[in-house]
Amino acid sequence: MKWVEIVYLCIDTDVLIFLALHEPPYEEIILQQLELLLEASKLELVVPYNILDEWNRNKELKVIDYLKTTISKKVNSIKDIKKYLSLEDYSQLENILSKYFNTMDTVIADATQRIERIDKILTSSKSNIVNINNEILSQSAELALQNKKPFQKNKNSIGDAVNFISCLTFARNNNQTVYFVTNNKHDFSDTDQRLLHSDLSGLLNNEELIYSINLVETLNKIDTDLFNKQLEDLINDFNTRPSLVYHDNSDIECGVCAKHLDYRKNGTYLPDPGGMRWIISCPMCNTRYETEELHPAY
Ligand SMILES: [Zn+2]
Repeated sequence: MKWVEIVYLCIDTDVLIFLALHEPPYEEIILQQLELLLEASKLELVVPYNILDEWNRNKELKVIDYLKTTISKKVNSIKDIKKYLSLEDYSQLENILSKYFNTMDTVIADATQRIERIDKILTSSKSNIVNINNEILSQSAELALQNKKPFQKNKNSIGDAVNFISCLTFARNNNQTVYFVTNNKHDFSDTDQRLLHSDLSGLLNNEELIYSINLVETLNKIDTDLFNKQLEDLINDFNTRPSLVYHDNSDIECGVCAKHLDYRKNGTYLPDPGGMRWIISCPMCNTRYETEELHPAY
């Protein structure tokens, strides 16, 4: 047994986007924890070249442009009500909007800073870039030909497949275990979303790859001594988050106050990294519930 056990971690592009996009405190704490573990040489990243490429192609579009679009959509819908207001109310609204714009400048600046921190992490000496080679490409193509995960329906999933196979290749070549963390449950997970789909787990020999859909929990596993107390609270919060009790779509129950809710009447589309997500909100206790449903336009 070695004194210092370095853990190898691969973070999928969608999780990186999430880290950059979301507002503090949560993502801020997670990013800090990553930096801390890398600094303490407890952790190294495995970065398939394709993830680096996806990150570079999408960070501006899916983080900065996304935030700007969401903000201007909100402002435009507020501006619509101006014509119904008195001159006095109108000028008050203008005041509020200008304050809102100032706050939003800070939100963009913070997100830009998080992008730069992630850039730094991905290109540091603690990041092992896995270049795409013919072997990785042919194994990925094989999954496509056999119609296995992450390929599904008509979606082009070659990038997802290459990322997964790149991690597996790194693990085998270096005789290491790699934690593979993704938000992309639809392409990678089994019916129990915490588990890797059997199409893919069948490719593994031992524990070459540990699958995870929760970066916070994975970071907790890596080093409990260095583990941030705030992050622990975050996990507890996540694990004890209430969930809806479904009878059918027009008869669901709030997990907190047991009020009967209607899937349509008590929900609305709200901004989400994937686009707009259907969020159900309990009018009795204000608890919010995320659903799997994205706006059809996305
Ligand atoms: Zn409730």
